[in-house]
Amino acid sequence: MSDIRVRFAPSPTGFVHIGSLRTALYNFLFARKHNGKFILRIEDTDQNRLVEGAIENLFRTFDWVGIHFDESTRNEGDLGPYQQSKRLDIYKKYVDQLVNDGKAYPCFATPDELEEMRQQQVARGEDPKYDGRYRDYPADKAADRIKSGETYVVRLKVPLEGETIVNDVVRGTVTFQNSNLDDQVILKSDGFPTYHLANVVDDYLMKVSHVIRGEEWLPSTPKHVILYNYFGWPLPQFAHLPLLLNSDRSKLSKRQGDVAVEDYINKGYTAEALINFVSLLGWSPGDSTNQEIFTMDELIDSFSLENVNKSGAVFDTSKLEWMNGTYIRNMDPDKLLNFLNPFLEKAGIDITDKEMCQKIAMAIRPRINTGNDVAAAVKIFISEELEIAEQEALEILKEESAKVVLETFLDKISTIGTLDQSVFKEIMKEIQKEKNIKGPFLWKPVRVAITATESGPDLPIVIDIFGKDKVSSFIKQALNKYI
Ligand code: GLU
Repeated sequence: MSDIRVRFAPSPTGFVHIGSLRTALYNFLFARKHNGKFILRIEDTDQNRLVEGAIENLFRTFDWVGIHFDESTRNEGDLGPYQQSKRLDIYKKYVDQLVNDGKAYPCFATPDELEEMRQQQVARGEDPKYDGRYRDYPADKAADRIKSGETYVVRLKVPLEGETIVNDVVRGTVTFQNSNLDDQVILKSDGFPTYHLANVVDDYLMKVSHVIRGEEWLPSTPKHVILYNYFGWPLPQFAHLPLLLNSDRSKLSKRQGDVAVEDYINKGYTAEALINFVSLLGWSPGDSTNQEIFTMDELIDSFSLENVNKSGAVFDTSKLEWMNGTYIRNMDPDKLLNFLNPFLEKAGIDITDKEMCQKIAMAIRPRINTGNDVAAAVKIFISEELEIAEQEALEILKEESAKVVLETFLDKISTIGTLDQSVFKEIMKEIQKEKNIKGPFLWKPVRVAITATESGPDLPIVIDIFGKDKVSSFIKQALNKYI
């Protein structure tokens, strides 16, 4: 049994950010690769940010992508509870310990007082920072004020001098000057711990061996290291994952596109493509390969923290689209239909006709990258009206031979019973022979008249789906409206 234990520790704010998916995935891959345990811990100590249903939504999203937790609020292990709001007594005990040891202290400064302090610092051209006004406040006086019911917070007594070193698997040795660190609040006036304290206490108690999280937490890490040292606990290994960037290299933001995993689910991305794409945001399998398509098992096999990059990872949506299209084209027909069904239904296709849907799915799959592309791709199958908008397609019908081909075609199908793929091919051969029209001059007008575009889905499949009546109606419409 491995000692590797990693955790994903989200604050449940309502949706799963694509960056959180990346963090969770890397933790999951690392745990699976090393036969370790992957823990979900809900960090809900900020009562102002709680959102109804956020935890259920989180599980729904992770179930969908196929990332499973070995210990969580849903399947508690021995070291729970796995939700911080249920661990308040535990934190209180550790805060008291720090205060008794002189490593933390109560601070009675009011929010107004602190605001005034900050404004004065800014006016003096200094960076705003807690000035330590209660750092050396006598313990007996503090105890009296607490007893009398006065509001207070508890702050960490950060050393005034020296430096704190963070050894990070991704970033190497990062040195912080203690004089730049605030006396961080560790217990708030509402009795809840802050992230810093709760996170460190829980990582220790839950025996977390590796803290793998986004780079935005690196500036907090020296405070965590100080806490570990004050408690006399061994440090976990830290690994801070590179930032996710928009294509202009600014920090990935909602303003430039979707950041919620749910948005990608709704737009018709597959779980496999999303996982594959996200896995490559900050990690690569190494120099010896340029493999880009990975199954989850292959990712587990190849993943290593050593191959996580330092530099920010650009979230390239066109690459995600391409990758999703690749997954769609490789899906087996049943899975494809399952995946496309909601989008077919939304587009107005009768999904109770499974055979028809299967055919439509196969017909459109070469030209869709996401579920959202389905509506446009199936338009031709729903419409009874032939509407040709493409200029190139209209040009094709202007050729003299186009009229001959379509009239002959119409003539021929009027005498047959059913029009299927083989009858269709036969008819085309006959027209070629009789009229001596071949290649694009023969095929393109038929394609345009039936699919309204020059580069539509595979013609025999469309014919199969349409049947004789719709084909002749479209050919007639092409002759009447466009020739
Ligand atoms: N609760 C933090 C978050 O929302 C956890 C950060 C960490 O992994 O330490 O991301």
